[in-house]
Amino acid sequence: METKIFKDDDISIAEAGRIAAAGGLVAFPTETVYGLGASAYDDTSVERIYAAKGRPSDNPLIVHIADISDIDKLAVDISPNARKLIDAFMPGPFTVILKKSRIVPDTVTAGMDTVGIRFPENVTAQRFIKAAGVPIAAPSANISGKPSPTEAKHVINDMNGRIDAIIDGGHCSVGVESTIVDASGCTPVVLRPGGITYDELKAVVPETVIDPHILESIGNDEQPKCPGMKYKHYAPDAEVTVVEGDPKKVRDKIKELIDENSDKVCGVLTMSDNAYDSAVILCAGNTNREYAKNLFSCLREFDRLGVEKVFAEFEERDGYGLAVKNRLYKAAAQRVIRV
Ligand code: AMP
Ligand code: MG
Repeated sequence: METKIFKDDDISIAEAGRIAAAGGLVAFPTETVYGLGASAYDDTSVERIYAAKGRPSDNPLIVHIADISDIDKLAVDISPNARKLIDAFMPGPFTVILKKSRIVPDTVTAGMDTVGIRFPENVTAQRFIKAAGVPIAAPSANISGKPSPTEAKHVINDMNGRIDAIIDGGHCSVGVESTIVDASGCTPVVLRPGGITYDELKAVVPETVIDPHILESIGNDEQPKCPGMKYKHYAPDAEVTVVEGDPKKVRDKIKELIDENSDKVCGVLTMSDNAYDSAVILCAGNTNREYAKNLFSCLREFDRLGVEKVFAEFEERDGYGLAVKNRLYKAAAQRVIRV
């Protein structure tokens, strides 16, 4: 299949919308990461998303809207707390889990009786969804298990020849996926940290809690609330180790690790101006917010440069720390050294 690459001008977006409305798969930019979209009402197209990504069929997709009134078509029994969160964070990097209406096919929700809904803030995403004229079911536009794409070239790398079109909308501004909050019960529960911080959520609904599994790997016999929690995620080909703590101790530990691995091509993902000899250095940024924006593209860049072992400096510095940590720990398959 030939994959068309579109710019984000009006004519191209109208064409991308027609492709999605006719059952095609279109990757599109959002403020978080690139999504791989198909009409949420079209079972066959939704199944093609799972196939193109190699995504397990028990991991549901998020439905993207560009008109807030669509929520009442897709969901039922919306609680007052859910309404408060919707009013505060939509459009934005936020996904709300609600009880689904009958209109949402089981392929989208992987058979669950709830649906994840997101209203992206990115204007190109909104124009594309409006052009399609239907809600768009979309996971991240990467091969399952790989780092999520934050630039069109990452999508081309993973999806060229597997999907109908890609809209190139430049670099995603947030860089990690949306914050997922299950608001289908009485107390809202954060299932995945992301572009909206926990403090921001609590300022709107103080009783919001965080699912304790967020920073752990889930055992095979456990059933997580968010099916995505149990899968290997975000992993580059290189082996990643996180070194976390006081910046000076982190630097000393990483120097030691580079020495121990002198037979390997080593890379360091830095939060500082720390210099390391005999390693490829990429800077994630001083703040956790910048780290979130750069993390996935840096992981892909290490692979492109042939790095075999990545040591990632990390220190929790702001509200985005939890979202970064969640991705970093998974990319490192929980190899974390605290100093
Ligand atoms: P992705 O779009 O690749 O970030 O994946 C979507 C994430 O949303 C996955 O981790 C899913 O498990 C999660 N998700 C989607 N729908 C639901 C739902 N109804 N309940 C809980 N988690 C969901
Ligand atoms: Mg994903």
